[in-house]
Amino acid sequence: MNDISSEEFLAAGRRILGWMDQYLGTIRERPVAAQVSPGCIEEQLPREAPEDPEPLDAILEDFEQRILAGITHWNHPRFFGYFAISGSRPGILAESLTAALNVNGMLWRTSPAATELERRVLAWLARWMGLPERLFGIIFDTASVSTLHAVLAARHVKDPGGRVGGHRPDLVVYASEQAHSSVEKAVLALGMGQKNFRRIGVDQAFRMRVDQLESAIMADVRAGLRPCCIVATVGTTGATAVDPVDEVAELAQRYGLWLHVDAAYAGMAAMLPEMRALFCGLERADSLVVNPHKWLFTPMDCSVLYTRRPEVLREALSLTPDYLQTDDEAVNLMDYGIPLGRRFRALKLWFIMRAFGRRRTTEILRNHIAWAKALAERIEQDERFELAAPVLFSLVCFRLRGAEERTQELLERINRGGFALLSPVVLHGKLAIRFAIGNIHTTWQDVEATWEAISRAAESRA
Ligand code: PLP
Repeated sequence: MNDISSEEFLAAGRRILGWMDQYLGTIRERPVAAQVSPGCIEEQLPREAPEDPEPLDAILEDFEQRILAGITHWNHPRFFGYFAISGSRPGILAESLTAALNVNGMLWRTSPAATELERRVLAWLARWMGLPERLFGIIFDTASVSTLHAVLAARHVKDPGGRVGGHRPDLVVYASEQAHSSVEKAVLALGMGQKNFRRIGVDQAFRMRVDQLESAIMADVRAGLRPCCIVATVGTTGATAVDPVDEVAELAQRYGLWLHVDAAYAGMAAMLPEMRALFCGLERADSLVVNPHKWLFTPMDCSVLYTRRPEVLREALSLTPDYLQTDDEAVNLMDYGIPLGRRFRALKLWFIMRAFGRRRTTEILRNHIAWAKALAERIEQDERFELAAPVLFSLVCFRLRGAEERTQELLERINRGGFALLSPVVLHGKLAIRFAIGNIHTTWQDVEATWEAISRAAESRA
């Protein structure tokens, strides 16, 4: 027998399931950030892989003894750095099933349910988010890759001949100064040239300045360049600012540009009717990215690209060698993206959407937003602190008044202490601390206790 025995699989499986349950149940007792220095995990690992089979028990032992020490617990309810994410229990179970099935959904035929479930859950998600009917959705690993595809589609519209002849060097992409680096990386990866990427200025609330956007487009037209794509963000990484998508859409239409909206984190809030105003104009976008692995309790990784123009992706990317030819009428998702192999990520999304339902999901999101607002109130009431940005979703950015080093020291002290994890951001040229609520296991008590820890740490510095 090549694989391990069914007995060993079951015994280790029970142990792993028990371990995971216990891990999730007692995770609050662990320091959030790994307390190790560079190289210290690698040092403990043998230089050579084993010649002969090792029992799973021994591997698990090492996992607990050696690997865990170097884990930063992203699934910790007091992980408030970057954007907090969750491996929810239904998601974890679905990931195990995905591994057992191990299908490759490149063609409809290579696993019909993988393609059809993906189409159905993405239609469900679009409905929850109030997106237009009949959007085409496709799952990629990350928002970076989804956005890469959006910019690639935009380029194809402006320069269809580039597919055969290589692309023209004068296509220009626009995004705000606050846009995620993945937009510029898409420009890099597609060979469009950093010199053809415009970072548009933002207003006091970190929203893209539409007047500056229009000036930049007009200047490029005058210079003989070809404006190609605008990327607007709903929920920027730094401060969750919302670009004026409706006005940007107006410009995109006037000048004939592709509009891509990056709502990787904040997109889920579109499920809440009271938040819809922040998503005004979204329906006019040519494409949109939203990450269930950010704020929909889906284990890494799962990013959704929606577009109303899937035929452009297909025209730009489809390439079918003999051995992948099929004669059925079905949609083959490999035609709409760069990767051929496709993990069955829709399964975990299906589990999550069914296990929580819309009502519970929206309740959790609503709580996260309410707690962020309540935290912001505490911060505003404390004269040692100031808010560094408006609180629109579940992220609070704040700093200590006075010298920047004090904020830096405070952040380091909290993260070193292990009770919670926060991350830095520079807003209007000044350091601030990001407190991002988003983990499914987080409670108001976690938020409050972390605020108290911050407050005490600030006190002991003073
Ligand atoms: N867009 C926004 C607004 C983000 O905040 C992030 C990451 O935090 C990304 C894109 C990139 O996401 P991913 O890690 O899925 O590529």
